[in-house]
Amino acid sequence: MKTHSIAVLEGDGIGPEIMAEALGVLRVVGEQSGVKFALHPALFGGRAYFETGSAFPDETKAICDRCDAILKGPIGLSFEESKKIPVDEQPERGALLPLRKRYNTYANFRPVYLPAELAHFSPLKPRVVEGGIDIVIIRELVGGLYFGEKEVGKRSDGTRYVRETLDYDEHQIARILHVAFKESMGRKRVLHNVHKNNVLKSSVLWCEILDEVAPHYPDVQVKHIIVDAAATALVLNPRQFDVMVMENMFGDILSDLGGGLLGSLGLMPSACIGTEKSYYEPSHGSAPDIAGKGIANPYSMIGSVAMMLEKSFHMPAEARRIMDAMRNVFGQGFTTADLRDPEGKLAPVSTREFSEKVLEQLRG
Ligand code: NAD
Repeated sequence: MKTHSIAVLEGDGIGPEIMAEALGVLRVVGEQSGVKFALHPALFGGRAYFETGSAFPDETKAICDRCDAILKGPIGLSFEESKKIPVDEQPERGALLPLRKRYNTYANFRPVYLPAELAHFSPLKPRVVEGGIDIVIIRELVGGLYFGEKEVGKRSDGTRYVRETLDYDEHQIARILHVAFKESMGRKRVLHNVHKNNVLKSSVLWCEILDEVAPHYPDVQVKHIIVDAAATALVLNPRQFDVMVMENMFGDILSDLGGGLLGSLGLMPSACIGTEKSYYEPSHGSAPDIAGKGIANPYSMIGSVAMMLEKSFHMPAEARRIMDAMRNVFGQGFTTADLRDPEGKLAPVSTREFSEKVLEQLRG
């Protein structure tokens, strides 16, 4: 029997709740497809810090190194809880960024997808989202401001200062652009290049490299848009976009805006593709405000499992079945607590009930 090994990092907050449901779905897919998924749980994030003194313990690194792919739940603490941890060990700085760096997961795929029949979940007016929303945000994930050198200090007059640098080189830019062009080739062949070349020199280089890469993909039409204008355009007319490519921080912010267009970050799975190993996680954080209540939307975590099946294990049919099953559950009139119910006709279900219904679909 074919076996895939997966490091399972359930994370903090709602992480354990939504991971449990995602693993239930993975188990059923394994039974149905005759593929064995060998799961290797490991500590990661805030809980890892409190239990071991490190947000990304060595044992977790060893497990991730050995596995074929990594499935990661959201990590992070509330604003107040974070203060109990030294700044450099706080979950993003102490675990998430080192994970991305370790596996060089440079290409982050963030689908912003709502089919026409579920457009009522979007807070946008029906005429704006008529026909649904279908965008893929491609975010560069291991460069830019989040990974540049940092300096914190005090000037001679006692003034505290901070300096963070935004680094990119031409190779980093070219490789993410190739990913975006290839994604465009499989879709509508319209690529929005999101930049800020009116202010940032990094964007000037980004656009220069884009001009060099674009001739390799003559069938793709490139459209340039400045990041601030892109934020407005996404809200006013999201249907004009198909594939959007951007640097790390722009992608962090605009993809959360994407979650807002859909109606919840709970509808945002993602794939973080590396040169040798990839990891999969919801786009959102640990949602401390709803943790432990059993109401988190597991779509983002289950969707991340689907993306893992497609991109790491070459099981696109199984991935599609999972996504269809989740959409069918919503299509049958069920909803989770985070989503809008404009006419008050939908039946709310808990985290567990939602995934049970997904399993029924998969088994049915
Ligand atoms: P968040 O993404 O955790 O939550 C924002 C809002 O979305 C909250 O109201 C939350 O309840 C809701 N939400 C998110 N996921 C949901 C889901 N699956 N179902 C229903 N509702 C959902 O952002 P935040 O509150 O700013 O951050 C909380 C913590 O998460 C912080 O410590 C932050 O640093 C961390 N974080 C981690 C990641 C990651 O692990 N990749 C990403 C973003 C934030």
